[in-house]
Amino acid sequence: MKELKSPILVVGGGIGGLAVAFVLAGMGHQVRVFEQAPNFEEVGAGVQLGPNGVRALDEIGLRAELERCAWTPAALMMRNGYSAIDDISLPLTDCFVERFGNPYLVVHRADLLQLLLDACAGSPLIELNTGAQVVAVGQRDDGVVLSFADGTTAGGAALIGADGLRSVVRKKIVGDGDPPPPRLVVYRSVISRDKIPDELWSANVVMWSGTRADFVHYPLRRGELFNLVATFEPDYDLDPTAIGGSREDLLKPYLDFSPGVKQLLELVDVSRRWMVTDREPVERWSDGRIVLLGDSAHPMLQYMAQGACQALEDVVQLGREVASSPADLESAFSRYAKARYLRTARVQAAARYFVDVCQAGPVLSQVRKTYFDRAPVAQIYDDLAWLYAPGDERF
Ligand SMILES: Cc1cc2nc3c(=O)[nH]c(=O)nc-3n(C[C@H](O)[C@H](O)[C@H](O)COP(=O)(O)OP(=O)(O)OC[C@H]3O[C@@H](n4cnc5c(N)ncnc54)[C@H](O)[C@@H]3O)c2cc1C
Repeated sequence: MKELKSPILVVGGGIGGLAVAFVLAGMGHQVRVFEQAPNFEEVGAGVQLGPNGVRALDEIGLRAELERCAWTPAALMMRNGYSAIDDISLPLTDCFVERFGNPYLVVHRADLLQLLLDACAGSPLIELNTGAQVVAVGQRDDGVVLSFADGTTAGGAALIGADGLRSVVRKKIVGDGDPPPPRLVVYRSVISRDKIPDELWSANVVMWSGTRADFVHYPLRRGELFNLVATFEPDYDLDPTAIGGSREDLLKPYLDFSPGVKQLLELVDVSRRWMVTDREPVERWSDGRIVLLGDSAHPMLQYMAQGACQALEDVVQLGREVASSPADLESAFSRYAKARYLRTARVQAAARYFVDVCQAGPVLSQVRKTYFDRAPVAQIYDDLAWLYAPGDERF
């Protein structure tokens, strides 16, 4: 690893880590990114970017690159998984874009990561390191030091922990131990469009909702691909290390679902499954020259489709604060954390609540349908304004 003069160190080369490296380098900072995996890569799945996430990428300067590989769904649909009756079809077309100033896009994670990697690779100020697992983090008056699994170390002016749910950097800053046990099981696959029967394909983001289980699908990569995500609360104790799945495990929660769902589930790869959890929100994200960003700061369940969006909002806010006091990163980090922790805590809480909305039992699903039947679209847009509308990013 070549030595840079007082660089900012970034632990983690996911969406948050690469985006913040790109933004800081754009301000003239030298940045070293350390990723533990042998390559920079994302899981084979899609990610939904609400207008706030698209706005963040716009502010970062990567909007055009995003639009080249994204898909624009026309509606967000929630459908009863058993009856196949739509509870709601929320338009994402002109009226939505007009209300929130930006579109709702969906993108393949690999495409999003690649556009961030390409952006970083174009900067002479960014050094990207893979196979670099950070095992300890230290801080002195004049800088920070990282220790790696291979026994080497790296020093820098400041440190950003973008190392996800099981963050080593968070251990140092927050010290709240391991995340709680996983709560939900997720199977996900990206399939070529031509493998999806026409009658089951949809241009929209569709969630089939059932009791303690849901199934989401939407197109990716300009419509060439189709993303399938099955999430359920298991009726057995989860072993977080049991990442291998099975067809029986996947199909069991969906036995009573509509035949179309079961047909699509047959296309889902069962060799790998994910287990998801979140953490309690915390206020303390920074300590001197060290700060958290993305899932390391505010891991959340996926039910608001906001984890990556919030990581990108973090990047924009951190960039603003660093720009306003480039020689005093400690103050910049502290102001950034103060500006971000309440809003992200609200999203974490909303995501927890939405598990129950999306995986409602028989009576609560009637409550959901009744609410949507009575609520005009404008009212639902109003309900989403705190999250999506410009200017509300602080809460
Ligand atoms: C099923 C599911 C669906 C989702 N859907 C959406 C969605 O639709 N929209 C949305 O906005 N968000 C969604 N999310 C959330 C989103 O994926 C995450 O919030 C986002 O990827 C977080 O990015 P990050 O860079 O903070 O962390 P990560 O993506 O977790 O990246 C952390 C990186 O740090 C590396 N790392 C970890 N420890 C170390 C170490 N010790 N040393 C060096 N490197 C290390 C990891 O290898 C990894 O590459 C979803 C999540 C799940 C699970």
